[in-house]
Amino acid sequence: MQKFTPMFRQYLEIKRRYPEAILFFRLGDFYEMFFEDAEKAAGILGIALTSRDAGGGRRVPMCGVPAANATPYIRKLVESGYRVAICEQVEDPREAKGLVRREVLRVITPGLFLDPEALPEKEACYLAAVFPGRRPGLALLDLSAGDFRVTELPEREDLLNELFRLEPREILLPPGNEPLKKSLAEILPRVAFSERPSGEFSEARARELLARHFGVHDPAGLGLAEMSAGLAAVGAVLTYLSENEPGALERLAPPRPYFPGNYLVLDEPTKRNLELVRNQLDGTVRHSLLWVLDQTRTPMGGRTLRSWILYPLRDLSAIRQRQASLRFLLEEAERRRRLREVLSRVTDLERLATRCALRLAGPRDLVALRETLKRLPEIRESLPPEAPGRLRALVQELADFGELLRRLEETLLEEVPASPKEGGLVRPGVHPELDELRDLKENALRYLSEIESRERARTGIPNLRVGFNRVFGYYIEVTKSHLARVPRDYIRKQTLANAERFITPELKEFEARVLSAEERIQALEYEIFVGLREEVAERAEELRQTARALGEIDALCSLAEVAEKYGYVCPEVTEAPGIEIVEGRHPVLERVLPYGSFVPNTVRLEPEGERLLLITGPNMAGKSTILRQTALIVLLAHMGSFVPAASARIGLCDRIFSRIGASDELSRGRSTFMVEMAECANILRNATERSLVILDEIGRGTSTYDGLAIAWAVAEHLHGLRALTLLATHYHELTRLAEELPGVKNYNVAVKSWRDQVVFLYRLQPGPASRSYGVEVAALAGLPPEVIARAREILSTLERKALEVRPPAPERPRQLPLFDPLLPLKERLLSVDPEELTPREALNLIFELRALLLKSGL
Ligand code: ADP
Ligand code: MG
Repeated sequence: MQKFTPMFRQYLEIKRRYPEAILFFRLGDFYEMFFEDAEKAAGILGIALTSRDAGGGRRVPMCGVPAANATPYIRKLVESGYRVAICEQVEDPREAKGLVRREVLRVITPGLFLDPEALPEKEACYLAAVFPGRRPGLALLDLSAGDFRVTELPEREDLLNELFRLEPREILLPPGNEPLKKSLAEILPRVAFSERPSGEFSEARARELLARHFGVHDPAGLGLAEMSAGLAAVGAVLTYLSENEPGALERLAPPRPYFPGNYLVLDEPTKRNLELVRNQLDGTVRHSLLWVLDQTRTPMGGRTLRSWILYPLRDLSAIRQRQASLRFLLEEAERRRRLREVLSRVTDLERLATRCALRLAGPRDLVALRETLKRLPEIRESLPPEAPGRLRALVQELADFGELLRRLEETLLEEVPASPKEGGLVRPGVHPELDELRDLKENALRYLSEIESRERARTGIPNLRVGFNRVFGYYIEVTKSHLARVPRDYIRKQTLANAERFITPELKEFEARVLSAEERIQALEYEIFVGLREEVAERAEELRQTARALGEIDALCSLAEVAEKYGYVCPEVTEAPGIEIVEGRHPVLERVLPYGSFVPNTVRLEPEGERLLLITGPNMAGKSTILRQTALIVLLAHMGSFVPAASARIGLCDRIFSRIGASDELSRGRSTFMVEMAECANILRNATERSLVILDEIGRGTSTYDGLAIAWAVAEHLHGLRALTLLATHYHELTRLAEELPGVKNYNVAVKSWRDQVVFLYRLQPGPASRSYGVEVAALAGLPPEVIARAREILSTLERKALEVRPPAPERPRQLPLFDPLLPLKERLLSVDPEELTPREALNLIFELRALLLKSGL
């Protein structure tokens, strides 16, 4: 180290403590990076890589970004997966004796990232810590919203599901958990992992840190008594936080327990398949359930609604409370309209509170806060005492910020600049010295124009002008044509193309006065601003509570708005299991299709009666749509929302399972068939008579007979479990299950053949589909006519051959042939009532039957 300059020795000393971060080393107006950090960052940021003498003539790589505008650079590095350590000068360089003291004030990691530009407004962003084990512990911190929670999960599988539901930015893990890490990386490809020493995942450590930072001497007081794995994870989060963002601990509320088991279980494939908060195509919110439901006006409302979708309730009374609130908001349309209008002026109080607590908020944040606090009384007034319980409770959760509002109004100007350090924030009358200095400055400016007119008169130069620039300060400018008249006491300072600039001793003295006043004004205003921000920070937790209440009010308004706009009805949610959806619609598809073209359908499932509906029909008939809309409506009912249907009765569920056959799903590295079977196994292990199971074309990823056999056995098993099941299948043979099992019933989605083409009716009707119509759909898709004709030929040969094949016999041999080529004909014949036929219809029927017979290839 001998050869390095003192500053570089300081740099290396600090860098040694943050080997994993890119060190932003404050040097005057810049953050500089050196050595490898500089090489890495210059490439990512697209900035020039230079070098600097580090002592003894040794030059080291260097690059830098302006400190005043570092945020976009930090964002880019963090989004590229790096951590950034911010090292500041912690004393005034003018007062420092020798080297300025420097300290790392915070390390920005993917999970501790508060840049408002980079955080999606309507999503929570979690740092998670996992304590793996038989009963894994999970701690979660959304620092931006001050949300700190902890739980334990029964199994590893539940842990994965929960993490997929939360989509954390960063996960802390003890070393040596490669298989878990691998599974997590598969379902959360963008998450950052941070390996932390095992010692940090310790209950004892958590207890110590809870006592030190929150004054909590017994975790039992927080409801965490039984959670030793959960506490171990809390220990890791608190250690990480105290290392990387120590200021955050000051005003954070202690962790609170939560229990995923209190909510409807949505596992990873279900969340994915149902496209709850993002679509499967590009991962954005477009065309997801959230996309339809989100009419919120505030970021908090958006985040609340999102979490309601991901955590549907299982508690009947909580569901009914939301329903009652929605009913009230629907009836009181005028109140709702006013409420939503006020909400649209409300800022993100939740995140603002954290930014104040961490001293990151700027003047404009405080102005936004002021404007929001002004609105609170209006919100209180728009919800009268007769509003239902939940809404009234929410109004009571809005804290009183009258005094804080008064302080903000009295102190800050109507409009303020973005930076707190350049003055122009504080109203007159707030601080006597500030007012005096401002007077002085103003007088001085008047004095300046006096100098100008006096000097014009004295020299006789009509266009003589007094000006200011940052480098030379105040000057007198004289154009070339008048140079001859410049008096002798002017001192030449700068030459321009057609003018010269001068100073005078008088002007210099004036300058000193003004500049020092200006500096003092800025310092005073900054001090006042910081004090005010501190006052806000002191109420951070109340602000967050208020923000959450506002978020909930906003989310309720949003659901009411959707219910009204799209004609949703209040479902009857019952303790008794069973589902009846009359004329239900797919919430997303009905918004995407042309108005009025969506065909509603009715679905009934009873644990003691018809509980497994086997849905057949050609491709594109609408099978998947019926399956998903049923799941979505059930989920909406559990959110306490109204539903897109004519009426609905929904028995409380414990889980929704939704699986799509492998070839329908994007591959994720593992063998898709393996994935599919693992998922099926999971359903069979966990489904109960309170579960809704949606199986769409399972058994596709293998040979036909394998697939059929598996689908058959799975269906039988689910029937035995009494789970409410919708099963869409292209295995026509499965329809025979209905003959054997009392709770299985065949349905098909109606299609009409018309001149060798298929017309889709999108109507669910009892009975199996007559055939698979694959060739017709292929024709519809534009395969050339000669290919279609040839396919028909091959099909009839195959079907004739299939007659000889015996069915895969799970229990006993079957008498029926696998394919019955005459089935369409028989069904058509059975579907008519001869008594009702007119002679003309009878004749048409004969033609139709003859055509069917010819087509069957017999
Ligand atoms: P399947 O699963 O039977 O192949 P899908 O459910 O995927 O069919 O539906 C295919 C397409 O048919 C959908 O994308 C949609 O455009 C249309 N569709 C499905 N159901 C309906 C309906 N109930 N009303 C109107 N159009 C529908
Ligand atoms: Mg489908």
